[in-house]
Amino acid sequence: MASERQFPRNPRLSRRSLLGGAAAAAGAATLTATGSGTASAATTRQADVAIVGAGLAGLTAARDLVAAGKSVVVLEARDRVGGRVVGLDLANGGVTEGGGEFIGPTQDRIKALADSLGVQTFTTYNTGDNLLYKDGKKTPYATDGILGAVPPIDAAGLANAAIVQATLDDLAKQIPVDAPWTAAKADEWDRQTFETWLRANAVVPSAKFLFDVACTSIFSAEPRELSFLFVLFYIAAAGNSSNPGTLERLTETANGAQELRFVGGSQLVPIKLAATLGDRVVLSAPVRTIARSGGGYVVTADGVTVTARKVVVAVPPPIAARITYDPVLPASRDQLTQRLPMASVGKAIAIYDTPFWRADGLNGQVVSDTGVISSTFDNSPPDASYGALMGFIEADEARKLDAASEAEVRAAVLKDYARYFGEKAASPTSFVLQRWNNEPYTRGGPVSIAAPGVLTQYGPALRAPVGGIHWAGTETSTHWMGFMDGAVRSGERVAKEVLTVL
Ligand SMILES: Cc1cc2nc3c(=O)[nH]c(=O)nc-3n(C[C@H](O)[C@H](O)[C@H](O)COP(=O)(O)OP(=O)(O)OC[C@H]3O[C@@H](n4cnc5c(N)ncnc54)[C@H](O)[C@@H]3O)c2cc1C
Repeated sequence: MASERQFPRNPRLSRRSLLGGAAAAAGAATLTATGSGTASAATTRQADVAIVGAGLAGLTAARDLVAAGKSVVVLEARDRVGGRVVGLDLANGGVTEGGGEFIGPTQDRIKALADSLGVQTFTTYNTGDNLLYKDGKKTPYATDGILGAVPPIDAAGLANAAIVQATLDDLAKQIPVDAPWTAAKADEWDRQTFETWLRANAVVPSAKFLFDVACTSIFSAEPRELSFLFVLFYIAAAGNSSNPGTLERLTETANGAQELRFVGGSQLVPIKLAATLGDRVVLSAPVRTIARSGGGYVVTADGVTVTARKVVVAVPPPIAARITYDPVLPASRDQLTQRLPMASVGKAIAIYDTPFWRADGLNGQVVSDTGVISSTFDNSPPDASYGALMGFIEADEARKLDAASEAEVRAAVLKDYARYFGEKAASPTSFVLQRWNNEPYTRGGPVSIAAPGVLTQYGPALRAPVGGIHWAGTETSTHWMGFMDGAVRSGERVAKEVLTVL
């Protein structure tokens, strides 16, 4: 049985290995290895609200409930906070992001949270040309064209792509983000995949290629895996209450979701947030059972049992399905969680003495039709004291590598990096890999996805509380679902929801 660890209110002892390098970089939250931070195997706690999951959603919910004077215990399965947001330690003493990393315009809630915690942002490196690698040919292209960063495909493909993009944005405007299943054409859109729709609309092969790459980059899923209604919802959700979502905001670096990064790494946000909650956050405590008892609930985790009036489950839907509920959940809720699988993603980051591609006039961003990595970013720190190339391993390419050794993945990734940036890229000083498909308590990423028929049949069960059990997590958000911002919004929403019934 895993031992329970807690955040002390006045943290003193730094345990870098538990929290990732971001913790030490911040000198922020810390854990005790022994003494007051370690509880015996059979701790019992009582709280107004038990929260399952110390990702951004669960921690934000805890912050708001505590601010409203309620007692909470946050139970986290891992030995760190942040969930899909994690800092990876580098051999050179730096830290890089293994999961959620970028933020951009209209992602107001994650920005406000980071600001409140003193975590600063910097602009993602975007100076110089992008690279298109297609049909064995490398073509640099500007990021500041009239239409933004448009890959140099043939004129017919560009014209077709422009129409497809405008159509997607127009259709997305017809989606109510709080209930996409009520859109007038929801049934029609939810009985086809994005692939089916693209084949009928992105009829020029080079245009289809661009949308295929955009799809794997946004969802880490192939177009054939996604309901068209789900894709339109995701576009509609890429905005806020005063700015409707657009596809461009999802895909762009400047003025888009990849515009900014966090100084010291994104995991600083959940780490600092958890520090404000002190010993209310219990680590290494995977929740196994949520059972109704009297007027409340008994939440049983490894090493700790919490008795609470209400429960917030802030984990991805398919992972929430692995908890035992007593009494069993309504069929609609259980079947929903059986039908929202995690997409497939990994991140590979190669470290170099310098970001040498910058001297070649490149910004480190690639769009490619070849290899295991079809999109990359310059993940170097703000002072460029070393170079970092980050690539996503997505969808079919991720699944192909699930059983590969780390050495095999590294070799495949570096082959791609050398193809894009030259032979220097084949010899990094170090290399880190985060394979989300293999991670317990996430099993994929960046987000749960919906195939045809899921939203229209089961959508209302996404947020509907079941008795005193309330649901949070980025997958429940009406704006920026799938992103850190959506996670924070969901935590804020669920806290309000619980406060109305406490
Ligand atoms: C590779 C990758 C890249 C991404 N890039 C970006 C990006 O650039 N920008 C962006 O905004 N977003 C990005 N995201 C998405 C973003 O990270 C997530 O949307 C967000 O972090 C989700 O937060 P959450 O709190 O909803 O869920 P999670 O972070 O998944 O938190 C859930 C928590 O619950 C815990 N848990 C699970 N089961 C149990 C249990 N039984 N008992 C107790 N605890 C449990 C987990 O360990 C986890 O800590 C990316 C994600 C990935 C994987």
